[in-house]
Amino acid sequence: KSVNDLTLKEATAEIGPLKAQLLQWGKEYYEQDAPTVEDYVYDRNYQRLVDIENRFPELITPDSPTQKVGGAAETVLTKVEHAIPMLSMGDVFSVAELMDFNARQQDNPNFTGTTEYNLELKIDGLSLSLVYENGRLVQGSTRGNGMIGEDVTENVKTIKSIPQKLAEPLSLEFRGECFMPKAAFAKLNEEREANGLPTFANPRNAAAGSLRQLDAKVTAKRELDTFMYYIPEYEKLGVKTQAQALDKMRQLGFHVNEFNRVVHNEAEIKAYIDEYTAKRDDLPYGIDGIVEKVNDLAVEEALGATVKVPRWEIAYKFPPEEQATVVRDIEWTV
Ligand code: NAD
Repeated sequence: KSVNDLTLKEATAEIGPLKAQLLQWGKEYYEQDAPTVEDYVYDRNYQRLVDIENRFPELITPDSPTQKVGGAAETVLTKVEHAIPMLSMGDVFSVAELMDFNARQQDNPNFTGTTEYNLELKIDGLSLSLVYENGRLVQGSTRGNGMIGEDVTENVKTIKSIPQKLAEPLSLEFRGECFMPKAAFAKLNEEREANGLPTFANPRNAAAGSLRQLDAKVTAKRELDTFMYYIPEYEKLGVKTQAQALDKMRQLGFHVNEFNRVVHNEAEIKAYIDEYTAKRDDLPYGIDGIVEKVNDLAVEEALGATVKVPRWEIAYKFPPEEQATVVRDIEWTV
């Protein structure tokens, strides 16, 4: 039934099991690295929850998946409190929705200057925070619930693309994505199958399962890689735009994805989306969409964030691959 046709009573009856189901899937995905449903199933159900909560705001509770980032920080790994929260990201599923998002964003009084965006590939891995002191790597952590993540310092030290020492003696945090290249994922699953071990559902879960290990020696064997994309305290480096922040991280010695592009209008945004929708399968790592970020970092800061997502960035998600050829009927699972 369409959300617009629901009575408050029907919505109340539906929302409890829907939230419980999403929380269960979230636990499997974020904490156990073992999802039992495809992402698009999660996304459709999540969107239905958002729509119900938009229509009946009185039904929003603090424990709703729409009010929380990631999973609970229930873990055997040591916990780390993030100095600056690590948020989630809003998403859209079509160019039309993306243009609506941009129009609303540009109506925000804090949106000043030009409509310049930096487009990046949305790497399908897990977010990673790296803290340096005097240019030395001192801490690596996962996002966890956004406030509290997991300490993976020893694990990240085994990842070749992460510099132990930066080109400058900076004391600063950097963020990015940890991922497993497609070839490493295929090899790992082959080995696991040969050894009678359960295989990973996808490279994202393999990356998360490989990084979140008590024994860093296991991580060392897993061929993880990184692309860094964010400097929370950018002003300390004198960079003014997101594109400059990426260049700065390259100079410091990080792996930064090479395909970002500064754009100014809908035609350029569409061209980028079309280009990477076509190139997606040929990339050696998985991407699940495109991230659009306001390029001017001062405007980013002025736009700020909601409890869960920044207002200055949005993910355009690719349609699920099965749907590219066959339009499926999505069944609501609850
Ligand atoms: P998300 O992973 O979709 O998007 C936010 C993340 O994108 C950021 O935290 C960052 O790690 C990453 N990212 C990659 N490239 C980036 C770039 N260039 N710039 C900035 N960030 C970049 O959001 P989320 O809230 O972590 O999780 C929602 C996702 O998890 C959805 O795709 C959902 O389908 C999936 N999920 C699936 C299940 C399941 O059971 N299948 C359960 C829960 C969540």
